[in-house]
Amino acid sequence: MLPISDPSTHEPRLLEQVDEALRAPHVLLGFKPQLERRFRTQTHRARRRSMQVAGVLMNTFPLLMLLADYFLIPDVFSQALWLRLTCVGVTLLLSILAFKLISDERAPEWWAIAIGLLAVGTNLHLLGQSNSPLGQLHLLGCAMVILYNNVILRPRFQLAAWATAAMLAGPAWVGLTLPEPLRDLKQLLPVLVAIAATASCSLYFLYQLEREERHNHLMSLRHRLLSARLATVNAELDQLARLDPLTLVANRRHADEHLGQLWQRRHHGQDHLAVMMIDIDHFKAYNDRYGHPAGDACLRAVAQALMLDLRRAGDLLARYGGEEFIAVLHGVPPDEALKTAERITQAIRDLNLVHEGSPGQQVTISVGLCCDRVAEHDLSLQAWVAAADQALYDAKRQGRNQVRQASILQGKAAA
Ligand code: GH3
Ligand code: MG
Ligand code: MG
Repeated sequence: MLPISDPSTHEPRLLEQVDEALRAPHVLLGFKPQLERRFRTQTHRARRRSMQVAGVLMNTFPLLMLLADYFLIPDVFSQALWLRLTCVGVTLLLSILAFKLISDERAPEWWAIAIGLLAVGTNLHLLGQSNSPLGQLHLLGCAMVILYNNVILRPRFQLAAWATAAMLAGPAWVGLTLPEPLRDLKQLLPVLVAIAATASCSLYFLYQLEREERHNHLMSLRHRLLSARLATVNAELDQLARLDPLTLVANRRHADEHLGQLWQRRHHGQDHLAVMMIDIDHFKAYNDRYGHPAGDACLRAVAQALMLDLRRAGDLLARYGGEEFIAVLHGVPPDEALKTAERITQAIRDLNLVHEGSPGQQVTISVGLCCDRVAEHDLSLQAWVAAADQALYDAKRQGRNQVRQASILQGKAAA
């Protein structure tokens, strides 16, 4: 019987989950656990790569900030220089941890947050140490860090939102608690507003970006799942179109295609080809005596018994029409093909299906066999099959319940 593939996929209900997620507004940017895991796993490599590149750029940030340190908080410049260089070192160390040593897919996300917080913390620490009247302007560096973090490094939104809140609260707190002569609200408030605006705009950008990324992921997953489903259904339809619905063995269409393919390859190598035409004896009488449904059951029983004997890889059994079957054996020499034909004839006798309308009182078959090296004969495929058919006719004439070989093979295989 031709195998029918199992329609269930490796991940049942995945398509339904995808459709559900597409309908949901995903305001909070998260899928159900199975989908979320899949999303993170599939986007992990690309994110890792882009974060690594962005990380290299991030290392230039402490050096750029040295300019701001020099002009805005010159009194702590030497300390700034030392701290900024330490920051470069720590960032490198964290990069090695996140990208080389820790395989957890969330490591780069935490890394992005960590280096952002480190940069803001350094800025705030230096400001706390400085007595420069321009110190408040130095807080704008925090806006740069937030922008860089959310737009260039782009960690996942939920994590970024918490980190941004911290990077916003820090400067606000430090700015507002500066000692009186250093704190000038006319200068400080616009600076804090600028930081807040940068934070909200960059977060909005990050939110939209992730929402789009998730939507695209769902759409492409849906497309792949539907394509896979379609391919499965097509394969099943194709198999059904090659199956005889009554006996569940291959049908004539499949047999013709199979034979056609073997025939096209007939000049490659010296393979033998055996074609057997198999016909149930006195089947009309069986139908007449026991009725059509019983005839159908008999056909099924015979087909199953034949299948059991023709299981070798490369063998094909098909219902050729009515109560007639065809067996195609590839690469089997004539003596072996003859033994197989005798064996299946015996197998049907062994079924012991009562048939009172037959001289032997049981269901039997007759077999016509044509087997040889195809390349040695100048015959068409039709002639090859017709030779087997003629042998079957001979078997019928000689009394049925027997095997006859094709005489067309000039004595070599003639009975
Ligand atoms: P022979 O020994 O010469 O082969 O004789 P036969 O009676 O088997 O051959 P014949 O060609 O005279 O009759 C074939 C019968 O097979 C006639 C038809 O009703 C029956 N048949 C063909 N297809 C089916 C089927 O799908 N189901 C049933 N129950 N009978 C079928
Ligand atoms: Mg018959
Ligand atoms: Mg017939």
